[in-house]
Amino acid sequence: MTNKIKSDKCSFCGREKAEVNLLIAGIDGHICDRCADQAHSIIQEEVKKDSTFDLEGANLLKPKEIKEFLDQYVIGQDEAKKTLAVSVYNHYKRLKQAVDADETEIEKSNIILVGETGTGKTLLARTIARMLHVPFTIVDATVLTEAGYVGEDIESLLTRLLQAADYNVEAAERGIVFIDEIDKIARKGDNPSITRDVSGEGVQQGLLKLLEGSTVNVPPQGGRKHPEQKLIPVDTKNILFICGGAFDGIERKIANRLNTKVIGYAAAKKADRIERENLLQYVAPQDLKSFGLIPEIIGRLPVLTYLNPLDRKTLRNILTEPKNSVIKQYKKLFKIDGIDLDFEEEAYDYIVDKAVEFKLGARGLRSICENIMNDAMFFTPSEDIDSLHITKEYAENKIMRSNIQRLKAV
Ligand code: ADP
Repeated sequence: MTNKIKSDKCSFCGREKAEVNLLIAGIDGHICDRCADQAHSIIQEEVKKDSTFDLEGANLLKPKEIKEFLDQYVIGQDEAKKTLAVSVYNHYKRLKQAVDADETEIEKSNIILVGETGTGKTLLARTIARMLHVPFTIVDATVLTEAGYVGEDIESLLTRLLQAADYNVEAAERGIVFIDEIDKIARKGDNPSITRDVSGEGVQQGLLKLLEGSTVNVPPQGGRKHPEQKLIPVDTKNILFICGGAFDGIERKIANRLNTKVIGYAAAKKADRIERENLLQYVAPQDLKSFGLIPEIIGRLPVLTYLNPLDRKTLRNILTEPKNSVIKQYKKLFKIDGIDLDFEEEAYDYIVDKAVEFKLGARGLRSICENIMNDAMFFTPSEDIDSLHITKEYAENKIMRSNIQRLKAV
């Protein structure tokens, strides 16, 4: 027994019990509070290094595999997926080859996605970032303004990326920024010089240097509220920018361009083959220019692709198929309370019908389901049941009584 008391010291630093605040006993030794603390910090550091971000693209998938990964989360949109897969793959090839300075330089392939709201632009960008294990942030272009005006400075976009990277600058410098609503900073009107266009062309000009790659001094806390903060230089050369926008009305510009091109008999015949339904698939850089993006911006977003509007069949798939589809999420929620949730086929069709009717797109699927499921989520945890079957009648009944009916007028 006396022997044991004698050996009561930290097996790591050798301090006696009396010298430390706490001595934790193990089978064959002891650890003091200081050493435990230190060990914890070492673990934190190592975990950070190992798993948070994959900066070298070490586990980079081939384009086909990237698309297969996207398929698990995003329904349809094959063209956009293919284009994204290739440009992300090339982006990482580019990062790897940067070591040989004298070889042909592969240019950065920033991407612009054109498609109606709610068709999956953000979801695609988010899923890519999840796959790559790189820092990712979404910024709304509409909140950006030229420096000195009300709104957020353009650098704030990098502040968010730094925050997403836990202030690991090296990680942020290889991250992905999704700039949403890029169409909202289009130049208004054709003559740029009449008035100052604070939130339009000015912002586009400001974005240029970020998109092409330069070192930007970033306020780590963002905003202008902390003028004393030390700026962190961030090099944007290897940051992948993905821009998204609905470009409402761009179809007209596409149609105009296609029509003006097809003069003459042979060309007219060719025009017959143009699918009038979905003109977005013909979108070209000059349409973005007609819409009001300045040529320099378009030049720095060399990869242009489109997303299809969501038809009924796609909406129906979105409801149940993706890995974390709305329905799978509800099933999981109920499962936690020991309840097996299922839906009859007609109930799914009804939800899709309502999403189409209310013109809510994929975003609406969730709010419609929420209205249908809310009562059940309120009552069933206190009831003694182990399964719940949602019929079309049940769904109809809940929707008829819910506030969502008001959206109909929209
Ligand atoms: P956008 O950025 O084009 O406006 P989002 O990507 O934010 O649209 O989509 C809104 C929501 O709709 C997403 O959270 C997702 O649940 C769903 N969604 C949209 N399109 C798809 C799709 N093609 N596949 C799966 N879910 C989709």
